[in-house]
Amino acid sequence: MTKTLVILGVTGSIGASTLKVVRENPNAYQLFGVSGGWNVAAMLAICVEFQPKFAVMADAESNQQLRIALRDLALDTEVLSDADSIVQLAAEPEVDMVMAAIVGAAGLLPTLAAVQAGKTVLLANKEALVMSGAIFMDAARTSGAKVLPVDSEHNAIYQCMPEAVQQSLGYCDLKQQGINKILLTGSGGPFLRSDVAMLSSVTPKQACAHPNWSMGQKISVDSATMMNKGLEYIEAKRLFNTQPKQIDVIIHPQSIIHSMVQYCDGSVLAQMGQPDMATPIAHVMAYPQRQVSGVAPLDFFSLGELTFTPPDFSRYPCLKLAIDACYDSQTATTCLNAANEQAVSAFLAKRIKFTQIADVVSVCLDDLSYMGQDSELSVLLEVDQWARMHAGKVIKRICG
Ligand code: NAD
Ligand code: MG
Repeated sequence: MTKTLVILGVTGSIGASTLKVVRENPNAYQLFGVSGGWNVAAMLAICVEFQPKFAVMADAESNQQLRIALRDLALDTEVLSDADSIVQLAAEPEVDMVMAAIVGAAGLLPTLAAVQAGKTVLLANKEALVMSGAIFMDAARTSGAKVLPVDSEHNAIYQCMPEAVQQSLGYCDLKQQGINKILLTGSGGPFLRSDVAMLSSVTPKQACAHPNWSMGQKISVDSATMMNKGLEYIEAKRLFNTQPKQIDVIIHPQSIIHSMVQYCDGSVLAQMGQPDMATPIAHVMAYPQRQVSGVAPLDFFSLGELTFTPPDFSRYPCLKLAIDACYDSQTATTCLNAANEQAVSAFLAKRIKFTQIADVVSVCLDDLSYMGQDSELSVLLEVDQWARMHAGKVIKRICG
């Protein structure tokens, strides 16, 4: 049966990989709606190829440009332009499945809307879950939404979990299922072997040059600081309901094993594959079936050595900040995420040094004071706003 699909963040890296999977399986999906940021030319090309019913960009000017371009080509895609069009699109009754692939906090409300509307939610936008935590998982439980993890590690873990865990994401008791630990792997990014003393002078271009994965700029910088692994640690806690000491982070530079689950009988299940997001995306789109992704199979004879080491927190202070925030409170993780988004933007704009990303996040966490019950979305949105403002001030102070 054809599934009706909305892709949020279609003009980005995950958006492109999702379209690749749709191309491979043309009869399985009907692209109902798409949202993008500001790249009108990219959005137009997507509308020409896939002819979605609805499209929406991030601002009025981009929407207007897209509308004119579509009219010139006599295409039927309707451009939505209300302030909350993205949120509405994600919750449309005709929609079966929503790919949540907007980057950062901007993805929270549309992703949450899809969850509240009981959709199958393909979750790439980890920041949404890090920001809202239990609120997100509770909303899925209440509405019956099926949340499926796209992030390659969480998708790998999901695939290695018993069905009981898959069916009660966020609430299962791992110990009762015979699970000792989640082994969360990460490549270590482009600076795994760089001299730590040199990290203060690395450029955005160097930080974005990930050795194995091709991704958007923000997650590429997060991978270089390993804040990405920290956000994933928090994401794993929420999705798999882990207790302290049930997640280990392991550096695996080859990115062939995408994560593992260790059982109490000594078995370790791993999911492996090429570092190509089309694999986890194809998995969640077809779940519980399988479908082709267009990704080449692994050739074990050309893989070479697979290596594993523990992370060094002096190289990756952001990872430590995130793990500590994870065990502190929901507001701490919301603050961490917002401060990190601001710091990464400032680094990409060459306003602060690479190593100052951790400094900005650390100061914001230290200065965070009690702002209210962290089970209230309004409180978390306030914490997010406060952390952005505070990070802005810290960045300004650093810039002098
Ligand atoms: P990207 O920067 O390539 O794309 C982001 C998309 O969001 C684009 O379509 C952009 O236009 C849109 N967008 C950005 N800001 C917006 C705003 N304010 N309003 C509306 N739309 C906005 O990012 P990406 O690499 O595709 O990552 C997307 C999400 O998936 C992130 O949360 C990331 O952590 C997660 N993720 C990505 C990868 C990967 O391989 N790229 C892997 C795992 C998880
Ligand atoms: Mg990942």
